[in-house]
Amino acid sequence: MSNHFDYIAIGGGSGGIAGVNRAAQYGAKCAIVEQDRLGGTCVNVGCVPKKVMWFAAATADSIQHAANYGFDVSLKKFDWAILKQRRDAYIKRLNGIYANNLDNNKVSHINGTATFIDANTIQVGDQQYTADKFLIATGGKPTIPNIPGAEYGISSDGFFELEQQAKKVAIVGAGFIAVELAGVYQALGTQVTLILRGDHALRQFDSMLGTELSKAMQQQGIQLVLQTSPSSIEKNEQGKLIINSEQGALEGEFDELIWAIGRQANTDSLNIEKAAVSLDKKGFIVTDQWQQTTQQNIYSVGDVTGRAALTPVAIAAARRLSDRLFNGQTERKLDYDLIPSVIFSHPPIGTIGLTEQQAKEQYGEQVKIYTSSFNPMTQALSDVKQPTTMKLVTVGDDEKIIGCHLFGESSDEILQGFAVAIKMGATKKDFDDTIAIHPTNAEELVTMR
Ligand code: FAD
Ligand code: NDP
Repeated sequence: MSNHFDYIAIGGGSGGIAGVNRAAQYGAKCAIVEQDRLGGTCVNVGCVPKKVMWFAAATADSIQHAANYGFDVSLKKFDWAILKQRRDAYIKRLNGIYANNLDNNKVSHINGTATFIDANTIQVGDQQYTADKFLIATGGKPTIPNIPGAEYGISSDGFFELEQQAKKVAIVGAGFIAVELAGVYQALGTQVTLILRGDHALRQFDSMLGTELSKAMQQQGIQLVLQTSPSSIEKNEQGKLIINSEQGALEGEFDELIWAIGRQANTDSLNIEKAAVSLDKKGFIVTDQWQQTTQQNIYSVGDVTGRAALTPVAIAAARRLSDRLFNGQTERKLDYDLIPSVIFSHPPIGTIGLTEQQAKEQYGEQVKIYTSSFNPMTQALSDVKQPTTMKLVTVGDDEKIIGCHLFGESSDEILQGFAVAIKMGATKKDFDDTIAIHPTNAEELVTMR
């Protein structure tokens, strides 16, 4: 194999794989360097294993509700180890599919850690490789706080390695990962304590979402410890964890502690200063609207750039970049506005666009809000009610929809189609002119008054 390529991606995750596959399909000679398993965070320790766990939790919920429909079933046993085994086997199959796709596209797969020698050369093991262009797609890594005993906790990476189900777990954080893992654990029978430094979960989202989810989590039995930051962690003789904060030790002892307080750029191994690629003050790679770094032949996409850390965003940015660099589509780039996302909490959340507060700060009195709260029909025969809540944020006389926030059952599947309409500039009247599909949860979005 010659060691010179048209395009080398560093990082075989969502962004890197998408970028080189697309470039190779246009005839570029490509390589990808990955130090671990192909597929990166999403496939190995992110979206995929998380969604499997979420399905497991949803199955547990369904079993609980089955009696309402006349089924005589009860949850006798849940075997975490079997679920993990089957989940790992599924992921292994996906790793193989990614390797095959690279082979089919004639992309060279280089195993190891890439380090820049200069802007056109990397070192991997004892080999050097050169390229006309590089794509840095090295992703992110979990943030662990710098406090005594922090090492007794694990991150989401560690969560996916657990062979046994913890009986009592503490999760620190209030963002995507914290609430997703809290919901999964609680539904599967673990007792969860969520430790938040603020007043409610999901502070970076529309306040309706965090408020509703906090209520739901409490109803499910998750204990919320508000306005608290751990100051040190101790392990006692029985191997249980004690969590100290400025207000004193938290009540109880825990089998596991999970840090879910955000993620940072994964650039440590790159020797990036040799390539004269600049980082911002948080350590993310600086890129312009064309994904170009401060070095003219080096591009970057995905979590390492610190913009919308979501798999489809990394993939879309990387594919559009390859369309531009290797297929002459000179204006092709990713528009980072109106990116829909789903939080796989229990129940799930779908969200796109401005929050009510952001909209009012930008547009003042021109903003009109529509909300709806109802009990979904799946719970019609159940005594336990979990309301669904929806919000549309509109602006101007034509009530253009600039934000849509959904909390409740099926929000994860409802949002995608509405996101297309909103991205196309839909107004409230467009929604109202659309005939509802009955009986569904989604119909509420076209019947709001
Ligand atoms: P990554 O997928 O992280 O890939 C980077 C790769 O680079 C890694 O494989 C790493 O080993 C490799 N690497 C790093 N340095 C080097 C080097 N020097 N040499 C060689 N290789 C190197 N997003 C969603 O859209 N939906 C979800 O449901 C979702 N759930 C998530 C759940 C969790 C628990 C987590 C942590 C994330 C989740 N995400 C989700 C986010 C999503 O996983 C990321 O946005 C996505 O994986 C980013 O892709 P990437 O290509 O930027 O980086
Ligand atoms: P997030 O950015 O979502 O949330 C970080 C949370 O940590 C915030 O709630 C913040 O609280 C809290 N926090 C930050 N610092 C501290 C601290 N020192 N002490 C206590 N709490 C702290 O990060 P995640 O790690 O949950 O997820 C990382 C990214 O991965 C997400 O932003 C998302 O892009 C992606 N992801 C996507 C998923 C999906 O699409 N479904 C699922 C999982 C991850 P505060 O509110 O107080 O600021």
